[in-house]
Amino acid sequence: MIPFLGRVDEREQAMWIEMLSNNMPDETIVAFADLTDAQKQNCEIAIVANPNPQDLLSLPNLKWIHSLWAGIERIMNELVSPPFSIVRLSDPELSQVMSEAVLAWTLYLHRDMPTYARQQREKSWIEQPMVKAQDRRIGVLGLGALGRVSAQRLAQNGFSVAGWSRNPKQIDGINCFYGEDGLASLLSQSDILVCLLPLTPDTTGLLNEQSLSHLPEGASIINFARGPIIDDQALLAKLEKRHLSHAVLDVFMQEPLPESHPYWANANVTVLPHISAPTHPMSASKTVAENVRRYRLDGTLPASVNPELGY
Ligand code: NAP
Repeated sequence: MIPFLGRVDEREQAMWIEMLSNNMPDETIVAFADLTDAQKQNCEIAIVANPNPQDLLSLPNLKWIHSLWAGIERIMNELVSPPFSIVRLSDPELSQVMSEAVLAWTLYLHRDMPTYARQQREKSWIEQPMVKAQDRRIGVLGLGALGRVSAQRLAQNGFSVAGWSRNPKQIDGINCFYGEDGLASLLSQSDILVCLLPLTPDTTGLLNEQSLSHLPEGASIINFARGPIIDDQALLAKLEKRHLSHAVLDVFMQEPLPESHPYWANANVTVLPHISAPTHPMSASKTVAENVRRYRLDGTLPASVNPELGY
């Protein structure tokens, strides 16, 4: 028996239980609230979407939990030294969807769409200088499941692409930087910076006054990762001074973005309502089912989060 635990509404919970059950006909998937005390003793696996941490801790024999989301910072913050492994969603279809969003909004910035939209409002007929894709330098922060595929898709579309990760990497067609020393080098050569880092203690506030200063004059930012990675005040100041020309933001410190937030009315900011790569229930359920099947077959646990690093 595998319980589903999530702070989601009843309709969404029913949808997930049905979708997961269809993909795991040999398993019984039930809402946590429907478990008897005896059943709680026997659960080794749980499937979660923003679970209540106390509910998880009431399952004494839990070996691992599978999150239905790719970002797991909330669970990591709410559970101190959990006695089970945490597996996050790593779904190839999600990587494709994210890379499509990265390409779309990179093209938006590359072809000066914010400027032409403003010019239309002002009835102003001005041809902006054309920059070839190969001369547009894109920096991708994070070369994991989402960043790597996005960087490769940008390179396939002719852009000059560099990437940054914690550990050294070799990826065909991508100029790879790593570690603290590599960050300033990557930033200094990024006309468009794409953030696809997980939110951890090390990445919180990583893009601040000091680091943003390394970006070339007129650079733009796309943040599709998590809001607190960027220091909002520092970003607004850089946009105000025109050191940075535009920011496309899909994620925020507080979501939904409060109506009073200055991002809404800033012509140099594009606000998106956390839509760059939503979890797709069908492909996510298939990924979870495959991981559960392998575990039942030979006890193999999927790659899990390193609690010290937070991702
Ligand atoms: P992932 O596979 O865990 O990859 C994380 C990458 O970031 C890795 O390359 C890692 O380096 C690098 N990294 C982590 N900490 C670092 C540090 N301190 N310095 C340098 N590099 C660091 O994660 P993912 O699946 O690609 O997802 C990334 C994030 O995207 C998620 O955590 C989530 O918050 C966000 N997301 C957003 C949406 C949306 O709709 N907006 C949807 C899905 C996910 P190494 O490779 O060296 O370990």
